[in-house]
Amino acid sequence: MKPEISYTYRKVDHCNMCHSAAVSFKVLGKRLNRSQGRNPRKLKGVTSTICKCKKCSLIFPNPLPIPQNIQDHYGIPPEDYWKEEYFTVQPGYFSNEIEIAKNLLPFKNGMKCLDIGAGLGKGMIALTNAGFDVYGLEPSIPFAKRAVEKMGIQQDRLKVGMVEELEYPENEFDFITFGAVVEHLYDPELCIQKAMKWLKPEGIIHIEVPSSKWLVSKIANTYYKLIGTNFVANLSPMHEPFHLYEFGLSSFEQNGKLNGYSVASYQFHVCETFMPRIADFMVKPIMKITNTGLQLTVWLRKN
Ligand SMILES: [Zn+2]
Repeated sequence: MKPEISYTYRKVDHCNMCHSAAVSFKVLGKRLNRSQGRNPRKLKGVTSTICKCKKCSLIFPNPLPIPQNIQDHYGIPPEDYWKEEYFTVQPGYFSNEIEIAKNLLPFKNGMKCLDIGAGLGKGMIALTNAGFDVYGLEPSIPFAKRAVEKMGIQQDRLKVGMVEELEYPENEFDFITFGAVVEHLYDPELCIQKAMKWLKPEGIIHIEVPSSKWLVSKIANTYYKLIGTNFVANLSPMHEPFHLYEFGLSSFEQNGKLNGYSVASYQFHVCETFMPRIADFMVKPIMKITNTGLQLTVWLRKN
């Protein structure tokens, strides 16, 4: 059994992405700090109140639970976590995202790029193969160490630390990509602002985040309502994978007006529903038609 994580709580008084005041927040319900199953009433745990910004559809816990030690969320993975297949870059890895960025830039050979949340460096390898001059940033020491030792990433190209604490020169990069990063940050806007500063004018930032319109969450929330509870399936602020935010396309459109960028392109990704196969069969096409997949990918252009 894992030891209890201790948190401090920060009240949210404005939307992190569109700056709307708290009067624009709608309470969606509460979220346990564990998998909720069919009847969350029977389970013990700590709950967070989950809110949604009515203006930009950002979903977040309010108050925001912040672990006293960030390593409680992102500790060192155990030695048996590392499987040999993690160190293989599959053909076509990241190629769709890179292709779209290349078209939007438009691309010239040797353009400078930064991978925020580089992990084992797979994205850095794919971007290098695609002709970019690639740098990376990774907060986890064990991941960064293996990126250098096992994946052949040059040490001087990979900074170890959180995006909040690191610095790069202004107007340095043509392309910046955030892997599975932004939904874990306490202050997504701050990190987007930093990346925008490091980006050249007309440069592109690629961000992939969980969508606040995901159909499966909506179905689960309807079910929880029907059994007479106010639980919701959105986010995981106090348990793995520690998602603090879900975003709407409008979150970026509104935030762009405040921070000098525009949404150049976007995609909603359809995925598994984590429901029985028959539901999967019916729900997947609906997600595709209605743009209610799990993942939202945006390409932002600096003005
Ligand atoms: Zn908002």
